Amino acid sequence: MLSLQPVRGTQDLLPDVVRRHRRVIETARASAELYGFAEMATPIFEFTDVFTRPIGEHTDIVAKEMYTFTDRSGDELTLRPENTAGVVRAVISNGLTQGVPLKFFYSGPMFRHERPQKGRFRQFHQIGVELIGVAQPQADIEVIALGSRILDALGIGQRVVLELNTLGDPESRAAYREALVDYFSTRTSELSEDSRQRLQRNPLRIFDSKEETDRRVARFAPDFADYLNAESLRFFDRVRSGLDRLDISYRLNPRLVRGLDYYTHTAFEFVTTDLGAQGTVMGGGRYDGLVEMMGGPTLPGVGWAAGIERLAMLTDAPPPPPRPVALVPIGEIGEPVALRLAEDLRNRGFTIDVGYSGNLARRLRWANKIGALAAILLGEDELARGAVALRNLGTGEQAEVSLAELPSQLRILVDGQILF
Ligand code: ATP
Ligand code: MG
Repeated sequence: MLSLQPVRGTQDLLPDVVRRHRRVIETARASAELYGFAEMATPIFEFTDVFTRPIGEHTDIVAKEMYTFTDRSGDELTLRPENTAGVVRAVISNGLTQGVPLKFFYSGPMFRHERPQKGRFRQFHQIGVELIGVAQPQADIEVIALGSRILDALGIGQRVVLELNTLGDPESRAAYREALVDYFSTRTSELSEDSRQRLQRNPLRIFDSKEETDRRVARFAPDFADYLNAESLRFFDRVRSGLDRLDISYRLNPRLVRGLDYYTHTAFEFVTTDLGAQGTVMGGGRYDGLVEMMGGPTLPGVGWAAGIERLAMLTDAPPPPPRPVALVPIGEIGEPVALRLAEDLRNRGFTIDVGYSGNLARRLRWANKIGALAAILLGEDELARGAVALRNLGTGEQAEVSLAELPSQLRILVDGQILF
């Protein structure tokens, strides 16, 4: 028997949901354009190396969540779990690194083999931006301001809080790493198996653990603030005062680390308490080492990604699509005329839905069901006179209208004016 269930963690997006997603995407794209970001798209799958090296072998994503397979040519491929690595790969392979700064917006599906729950899926969708080639904190500020603007435009600015942290430059990070190894090494027996692994490879990531035991131990770990060098502190101060000047409020969260290994300096998340455990709607930061790590020149970068499903769940229902006009042919003469007339009216910008089958009563029921504003009835007698019957489905009133006058009469009705 064919299994009719979608694969665990995947879902069909029916029209109402797609409209919500589309509004998120269109709002984000329009806002991104205001900041000079251009949309781009990379393939949904890449060579596995594109993700493993930059994201880090010991992150959850690479260790547990990637959809990796060998294809029929023997290539090792992975469905993208995120899009920063893909964008950077594309920037390098298309030789765009000469033309910095580069500003890109993207949206599309991502894939992670996680435990599905509310707001967490195996195929999900992200919008995101990347700003490559600007080392100054102005880039961090602009990218956060854009994220904030999108959340405001979606009407959820009041429901999220911006959390901010710095991961310092590589020197600060190395010093902090040492301090963390010292601290956690004294308490290994209390750490989860995963975090014992992280302790060796990337102890910072223990802060990202969702295990209660790890969180308890992490609470008393040394603070990054005590290990930041002057340069890192200065950078963070400039980001903070820049946000202040734009009236973008934030909460410092010294335990905020990003899931991926390649972040430096600024790390931030927009979080909400309205989605249960899946509270992060947008996350990002600076990734100054990434382009070089992937084989390109030394170029800084900063960006964020946001989960479309989580954003869509927080937004009010979008306005309904335009109500159609129903075209209802009656009898043999009406049928062939109907599709031609439908095209003519669509050419004039009307939304026309054709009733394909059933008797008149049935087609009128259908017209009401689809929420049509009006029905155009193509009866033989009317057509013989070069006319149709136009019925206002709101009032039930009906009148004969010549084909020549139909577009103007329809316009009046669609624009919400009283007909007849
Ligand atoms: P989380 O801590 O929730 O697992 P993350 O740190 O793994 O998030 P990122 O890699 O930063 O997430 O991705 C950016 C955004 O994409 C998240 O803030 C979230 O809104 C969304 N997202 C990530 N994973 C999923 C998923 N499995 N299903 C739905 N949305 C997701
Ligand atoms: Mg995750």
